[in-house]
Amino acid sequence: MSIKNLSEPVRLEQLAEECAELGHAALKLARILRGENPTPVGEAEARERLTEEVADVMVTVDSLMDTRMLRDIGTHCTEKKDRWEQRLRQAKTMRINGKEVLPG
Ligand SMILES: [Mg+2]
Repeated sequence: MSIKNLSEPVRLEQLAEECAELGHAALKLARILRGENPTPVGEAEARERLTEEVADVMVTVDSLMDTRMLRDIGTHCTEKKDRWEQRLRQAKTMRINGKEVLPG
């Protein structure tokens, strides 16, 4: 059996699971870096776990690249990156004007 032989629902479930694991790994590393709420997990271990989970998500996304919903992913990525950059520029402008609110 090959990954490509798995049904789309199975690959979507795998993606959801890996995204949840990636979220946990990112939060754990952020907790360690912030240093306000101690954890027995060390930074090196947390970074390794984050790397593993990013790889898991990338492999799962790759398995879905031939499906309808991901055909135009490149365009969406460009648009979202541009929008993020725009928000960061707006936030910088707002701070310069003395406002504390980040753009939503
Ligand atoms: Mg995983």
